[in-house]
Amino acid sequence: MNIYSNGRLRLPQVEQVLQRPFITPFIAQLSRPLVTQAVREYFAKVRASQQSQTITHFDLEAGITRELSKLMLVRQQRVINATGTIIHTNLGRSPISPELWDQVKDVNTHYNNLELALHKGKRGQRKGLIAELLQALTGADNALVVNNNACSVYLILLALAQGKEVIVSRGEQIQIGGGFRIPDILAMSGAKLVEVGTTNVTTCGDYINAITENTAMVLLVHQSNFAIRGFTESVDIKALKARLPEDVILAVDQGSGVSTEDFCPEEKDIGRYIKQGADLVCFSGDKIIGGPQAGIVCGRDDLVQILEKSPMMRAFRPGRIILSLLEALLVEKLNRSDMGKGISQAQIERLPLTKRYAEKLACYFGDKVEVQPMTAVVGGGTLPDCDYPCYGVAIVGEAKLLSEQLRACPIPVIGVINRDRFVLNLASVTEDDFEVLFEQLCALFAPEQQPVSQKALSQERVSQELGQGKQQEGNS
Ligand SMILES: *Cc1c(COP(=O)(O)O)cnc(C)c1O
Repeated sequence: MNIYSNGRLRLPQVEQVLQRPFITPFIAQLSRPLVTQAVREYFAKVRASQQSQTITHFDLEAGITRELSKLMLVRQQRVINATGTIIHTNLGRSPISPELWDQVKDVNTHYNNLELALHKGKRGQRKGLIAELLQALTGADNALVVNNNACSVYLILLALAQGKEVIVSRGEQIQIGGGFRIPDILAMSGAKLVEVGTTNVTTCGDYINAITENTAMVLLVHQSNFAIRGFTESVDIKALKARLPEDVILAVDQGSGVSTEDFCPEEKDIGRYIKQGADLVCFSGDKIIGGPQAGIVCGRDDLVQILEKSPMMRAFRPGRIILSLLEALLVEKLNRSDMGKGISQAQIERLPLTKRYAEKLACYFGDKVEVQPMTAVVGGGTLPDCDYPCYGVAIVGEAKLLSEQLRACPIPVIGVINRDRFVLNLASVTEDDFEVLFEQLCALFAPEQQPVSQKALSQERVSQELGQGKQQEGNS
């Protein structure tokens, strides 16, 4: 194919380009229409540029490949989280365990009893055993599931406090991540915010004194992504509940969803809030519980029923993929199996292994990497006060360039730049991820040694040794 004719640029027809073998994998990943559009746009750019006088056929293919590769990066894909933030909102929060995912395949790839009560043969509720499982986990009478926890808060306010007053502490008027602000949600729901207390101290009396005949609710909000240190006082739930008039609802936006985990003893778990008298507690399904994105509201049966009857519930209810995953997770969690741990519990248990991981990398890549003690956080707006010691490696070289190179790996690796050094924090790297990470680092930094590497430190051996290390650590 010649792209010049009589010295004039004559680009091939787009359809011809689409037939070329280098395009095939792009079509498979991006769809024919998106590839066609990208090729057209690239041709338009070539025509418009001065360069077109010197362009070769090779340039053309390289240019198209470049454009399509950029598009490939936009597609949702697996990445390796080496940031040390275990629940990372930008990286999809909680990965679901592959075994759990397999468990719900059948129920999702066939028709199922989403809204059919099989024992009656009549229309049923779309939550399977989720409410019963949550009752076993938290002691709450009833529960419902919505699309995310922002939704839970909104639904609670809308269905139970519209046009009425809701009392919130000044210390809890928080913003979480991308623009979820408690005062804004309150305003949207039509509830009226009554602020009490100060940033660091809100007492039981502050709440009680603010109650009028128009008060629907006291809303306690977990501070989530920050902690106020020093002279602080937050309210004792039991004492508050005892002094609240019966018709004032005590609702708690607990956020993180701590339940049976043992790595954050300071955090009050959902069951405790319920036990101490909270009427409703809401939290995210994909933070510490480690399930799919969801908002869970549990608490008093009569209140949950009111929420379920809200016309907005139709807009907020999740689909069967979410519900089946959540149900499966809760069963595993109650049985205390590995599958039910959730990513944060699972990774925190593996933190002692990060030293071995880091040493393996240092041992193999020599001067290229340096083992470093680091700290991990759970993240995702949870446990702001908890740091967990762990290990990682700093990679020697220009930090920004390394960061780009690792993001360009077949399975992109996301590290952090810390004081001008590019570091991989291994606390958030799963066992599966570590094997891939190791191979990709080999390809980047020691391509000529690749065959040796496979022999000297095969994938199996890495995981085998780490497995043994885990046992030893567990025994000591
Ligand atoms: C995370 C969080 C939210 C928002 O939950 P999403 O599931 O992200 O919608 C609301 N409140 C608190 C206290 C949180 O921690």
